[in-house]
Amino acid sequence: MKRVVVLGGGESGVGAAVLAKVKEFDVFLSDSGTLKDNYKSELSKWGIPYEEGGHTKEKVLNADIVIKSPGIPENAPLVEALYAQGTSVISEIEFAGWFDTAKKICITGSNGKTTTTSLIYYLLQNAGLNVGLGGNIGRSYAYQVATENHDIYVLELSSFQLDGMYDFKADIAVLLNITPDHLDRYDHKMQNYINAKFRITRNMKEEDCFIFCSDDQITMGELNRIVVQAKKLPFSQNAPVEEGAFVEDGRMKVQYNGNNFEMMVNELSLEGRHNVYNSMVAAITGKIMNITNETIRKALSSFKGVEHRLEKVLSVGGVLYINDSKATNVNSTWYALESMTAPTILILGGKDKGNDYSEIAGLVESKVKAIVCLGVDNAKIHSAFGDKVVADTLSAEECVRKCAQLAEPGDTVLLSPCCASFDLFKSYEDRGRQFKEAVRNL
Ligand code: ADP
Repeated sequence: MKRVVVLGGGESGVGAAVLAKVKEFDVFLSDSGTLKDNYKSELSKWGIPYEEGGHTKEKVLNADIVIKSPGIPENAPLVEALYAQGTSVISEIEFAGWFDTAKKICITGSNGKTTTTSLIYYLLQNAGLNVGLGGNIGRSYAYQVATENHDIYVLELSSFQLDGMYDFKADIAVLLNITPDHLDRYDHKMQNYINAKFRITRNMKEEDCFIFCSDDQITMGELNRIVVQAKKLPFSQNAPVEEGAFVEDGRMKVQYNGNNFEMMVNELSLEGRHNVYNSMVAAITGKIMNITNETIRKALSSFKGVEHRLEKVLSVGGVLYINDSKATNVNSTWYALESMTAPTILILGGKDKGNDYSEIAGLVESKVKAIVCLGVDNAKIHSAFGDKVVADTLSAEECVRKCAQLAEPGDTVLLSPCCASFDLFKSYEDRGRQFKEAVRNL
């Protein structure tokens, strides 16, 4: 019996362990931190041995296959030791792919993954298909492969998951965009990060489809350099494309295999230029999957969006509050600001991953009345925006109260912080929820 060792006991690791158990491997899970109670009981339920609070080397190095959770870096000493002795180290998605014959629609990109994955899932569900949702969302893909039976999976894939993928093949692969992110995990080399993203096209054949943004310079540069076997379907808001999707005269136009679909951009339920991209991707996918134009139109005009992504919270005293807590880098805040139509009070701050605020300087100049900081160290924001920054706050409640004082009827208060949340909050979800709670208490 082959021995599978799973490193990391979060959603992804526990799912992989359960699948390994179901497939009758000798499985062991090891986590350097503490496991959540629900995951411990899941492991016990399946009779899977595990350890927490550190890795016992002998119990890991004797593995035939190691499944590494995406959160563990490649240069962790134990991982390096595994590579050195030639053990194959793969990701949960790769492992689950070995046992899954379903059609796989995979989405990656620097921004917009969760929104687009959820939108495609919603569309396929509305079309009455037997579809599962996985990757970085909800229950892990591996757990579903172990315990459920779907004809299609829609999977959100981060670059870290793609790093551990070798034989996996997507039937439809989507690359939304590439902007610098997570460079600390890629030796600070942009090309390494680009290579990771393009792994989504690995093993694809001519009958598969690759959907990508032809407005994205980095993506286009890479496509000029490498060969992708799959059928290429670009989407663009700048220029018409032959096959794929583009925007003309306020209409989104999709062409696939001699079939077309059109819809007014202002009928899309998700607002903002970035969401036009995300909706185009869903529409192309819908056409590939042979979904009727009526179903595509209905789904794209009724999708409610995902929590913490340009989520309208409430209007209080004529002021609209929007929660975009998931905007943890400058590029996503750029798109949030771009979609603002009212004078905006912008909340910025948190843990900065090497931000260059000049990217949003123009939009701040034209759309933002005032900036309120929500973070421990706001020095960079002050030096980038000078007098626009009117307050520093240390809690969601203090921040929202300050914004309410500054706002006039007709204004928008936008939490789109450009930064991770770990200085003051547990996660971006925690930050978003505390923000919403504070708005409701106004
Ligand atoms: P991800 O899962 O890739 O982090 P999300 O769908 O959670 O992406 O969206 C994160 C943030 O990125 C949102 O707050 C939104 O403002 C922005 N965003 C969404 N889609 C796009 C896109 N296609 N291009 C650029 N930014 C986007």
